[in-house]
Amino acid sequence: MKKIAVLAGDGIGPEIVREAVKVLERLRADGLAVELEEGLVGGAAYDVHGTPLPEETLALARSADAILLGAVGGYKWESLDISVRPEKGLLGLRSELALFSNLRPAILYQQLADASTLKPEVVGGLDLMIVRELTGGIYFGQPRGVRTLDNGERQGFNTLVYRESEIERIGRSAFDIAMKRDRRVCSVDKANVLECTELWREVMERVAQDYSEVELSHMYVDNAAMQLVRAPKQFDVMVTTNMFGDILSDCAAMLTGSIGMLPSASLDASGKGMYEPIHGSAPDIAGQNVANPLATILSVAMMLRYSLDEAAMAGRIEQAVDRVLDQGLRTADIYSEGTRKVSTSEMGDAVVAVL
Ligand code: NAD
Repeated sequence: MKKIAVLAGDGIGPEIVREAVKVLERLRADGLAVELEEGLVGGAAYDVHGTPLPEETLALARSADAILLGAVGGYKWESLDISVRPEKGLLGLRSELALFSNLRPAILYQQLADASTLKPEVVGGLDLMIVRELTGGIYFGQPRGVRTLDNGERQGFNTLVYRESEIERIGRSAFDIAMKRDRRVCSVDKANVLECTELWREVMERVAQDYSEVELSHMYVDNAAMQLVRAPKQFDVMVTTNMFGDILSDCAAMLTGSIGMLPSASLDASGKGMYEPIHGSAPDIAGQNVANPLATILSVAMMLRYSLDEAAMAGRIEQAVDRVLDQGLRTADIYSEGTRKVSTSEMGDAVVAVL
């Protein structure tokens, strides 16, 4: 029996997670051997325990095989000291659990091709995965800071550092994922300018030798940004550093035009992961039963595929989402004329009905 920690969080978190749990319950009836245990995180945890990541939530997350997270944050907690803001709960989970591999798929369902700012023929059917290194690189490198030079002028500085072992493990993560997809990895770097990413490229080549079925290519990050908006369907898996991945994954997400549709995962070295929609807690629409639950439901599909080794069940969820879109059901964020507007719970019920 596998254990899933369910951390709904704040804002629309509880509403969208409720629908994802319905989907899990439906699959349990078909033999999926999982147990669910709920915990508090973010502002909801702060209100009860005075911290966004209570010890008991961390212990639950540690003992679980996978974590399903809604979203954290909201107006109510914005004036708190930064050390106890809801977002610290999320960052704490990532670092405490050593979740170094961030998987950000960008999928554009044919039915929603009009939502993209790009031409339907450029993005329709898009299905790419960005694998971003999440715990190293320039965001964490030392030394860092702002110093005053001899002439009195101030200078800001950060350090881009990657150890071979860090590059190798994110490389393996990307190649393992490519093995479950179209078996193509594009490693994105700036090896023509940055020595650190010259090493990145060299280590990727080395990792590739262990994956003879996967085709490896390299691309400079400036070209990758250009190719993402010119011809994004050329990519299967992209693997890159923390900062490049931060930027490219948001760009790729926006190719789809619908923030309420995109799931994500953050994995550790053993494949354990935290799964969450890419969007935030949307306090502007919280409590109204109008949020799109599909990103969270698709996060469950990713969880089944990447942490629970249940690829067939994952595929069933993805097909069910495809079917409800075919049926013309849309939450407000993806609604267009000629389709039927449904609530959060109606959308969840529709996915369960297809399942
Ligand atoms: P957001 O993603 O919450 O919302 C941006 C816009 O998209 C809003 O108009 C919102 O209504 C809409 N939206 C988001 N998800 C939606 C969904 N599922 N269905 C329909 N519409 C949806 O980003 P924001 O407004 O910048 O941040 C709000 C709060 O969320 C802040 O407190 C922020 O810190 C937090 N946040 C949390 C996470 C996370 O938990 N991973 C990520 C980003 C932001």
